[in-house]
Amino acid sequence: MKTYKIAAIPGDGIGTEVINAGVEVLHAIAKREGNIKFDVDNFDWGGEYYKKHGRMMPENGRDQIRNHDAIMFGSAGHPEIPDHITLWGLRLAICQPFDQYANVRPTRILPGITSPLRNVIDKELDWIIVRENSEGEYAGVGGRVHQGSPLEAATDVSMFTRAGVERIMRFAFALAQSRPRRLLTVVTKSNAQRHAMVMWDDIAKEIALEFPDVTWDKMLVDAMTMRMVMRPETLDTIVATNLHADILSDLAAALAGSLGIAPTGNINPERTFPSMFEPIHGSAFDITGKGVANPIGTFWSTVMMLDHLGEKTTAERLMKAIERVTADANLHTPDLGGKARTADVTRAVIEAIHGANE
Ligand code: ATP
Repeated sequence: MKTYKIAAIPGDGIGTEVINAGVEVLHAIAKREGNIKFDVDNFDWGGEYYKKHGRMMPENGRDQIRNHDAIMFGSAGHPEIPDHITLWGLRLAICQPFDQYANVRPTRILPGITSPLRNVIDKELDWIIVRENSEGEYAGVGGRVHQGSPLEAATDVSMFTRAGVERIMRFAFALAQSRPRRLLTVVTKSNAQRHAMVMWDDIAKEIALEFPDVTWDKMLVDAMTMRMVMRPETLDTIVATNLHADILSDLAAALAGSLGIAPTGNINPERTFPSMFEPIHGSAFDITGKGVANPIGTFWSTVMMLDHLGEKTTAERLMKAIERVTADANLHTPDLGGKARTADVTRAVIEAIHGANE
């Protein structure tokens, strides 16, 4: 029996609801397999914790989760706390020191889900966006002076390092190589940003030489939004900077039917630290406590976690169970136009896991 230690950080808003559902599903798939087990430790960090303790997680928080095999994360955000505090105090406080520099976001139109794009059939939209997750526009370099005075000034400096760009390019090329189409699109803005983005392009060209079997092209980020909408079938694996991919992946999530479905993995490819898996949506306070949050994004991120842990067949079995459930419109939550509740979807996925013998 193989046992994995998982740290669950539900965080705020619907984060708690979807992570509880995710943990339930995780135990169910383990039971189905029979040869794996998950020890899940729950951490109550987030906005409520901040209100009691003045910080989003304890000072030694990272030490408490450093030796876990993976992290399941819900959402950090609180109506009474500024977003930059909740983001930097928890999510980024884990991602950056744990060097989770590759943020991986698959997008696919699951069975039963309708894309807002007309005429798109599922084969035509199957992407993985790789977001640089450690530097770039969100490096945290900058400052603000003379606050409130007419001389007030503020800067956010984009920081790109050769080491940082090389490693994300290598990761993206290798991922593209592992997919059937072996196709990579490098997103850039080197026409307007003539230093860091030109280095980004140069390094892409250098790393491409290591992957002669990968076909790659380069797109300006503005033109990329059009291509995603007009010619989705021409894309497969996509790599972009922290800011560009942040925006493009929300577009991707919307094109795939709902923010409630989209998953993401914050990966430390060297496995020196645990990687962290989460739905891409936020705390969604408008629906918190109503029992209607779509848990599919969390379930799909659990698939990514199983895959990362090397449990490929288990990951595939869970994905099949999820697809069986999305195919049934009676099991759609309100964000997908249905009437189902979080608990209904969770129960149905668990039933599908136990029914899936193939
Ligand atoms: P945050 O500030 O934490 O990012 P937010 O409420 O601004 O949170 P999201 O949580 O990403 O942003 O949600 C935007 C909207 O999408 C919400 O108002 C909610 O109605 C909807 N939504 C997001 N996630 C889900 C989900 N899992 N299920 C159903 N609806 C969702």
